[in-house]
Amino acid sequence: MATTQYDPDCIFCKILQGQIPSTSLFESDAFLVFLDINPANRGHALIVPKRHVETVFDLPEGYGEELIAIMRKVGKAIMKATGATGMNILQNNYADAGQAVPHVHWHLIPRFAGDGLLPWSTKTYADGDEMASLAGKIRSVL
Ligand code: 5GP
Ligand code: ZN
Repeated sequence: MATTQYDPDCIFCKILQGQIPSTSLFESDAFLVFLDINPANRGHALIVPKRHVETVFDLPEGYGEELIAIMRKVGKAIMKATGATGMNILQNNYADAGQAVPHVHWHLIPRFAGDGLLPWSTKTYADGDEMASLAGKIRSVL
């Protein structure tokens, strides 16, 4: 797995290369985990692959197993250290989904009862076959 493929204009690549400081929680050959500078809650961390790709769709095979292991290991540690009673693990792809930094990363956000961070609002499907029809369309392009 390549570990040195960086973009000189990317803020996370600069952090990965030590050109910009970060508050690190965990590091491996393929990932760095550091605290988000503007946390949704204190302890909010980012899991960042040591390779510049924009979205999860661009990530080569081979990162998944370690990624889940890091989510479990660091996520549990953040919950223990902060006293959090919940955790959101989020990942945004493209600006229209809220991705501000175009270097793929996963948010570990510790949650507390009544912390005011709300989930997104929900919509409904029209009566009839809209739900089944959309599912069929998605399955047809898998
Ligand atoms: P996105 O919206 O792309 O999913 O999330 C980007 C995250 O990166 C934001 O939560 C933002 O606070 C964080 N961030 C942006 N620049 C820096 C930085 O220089 N250092 C750290 N630690 N976090 C950053
Ligand atoms: Zn980058």
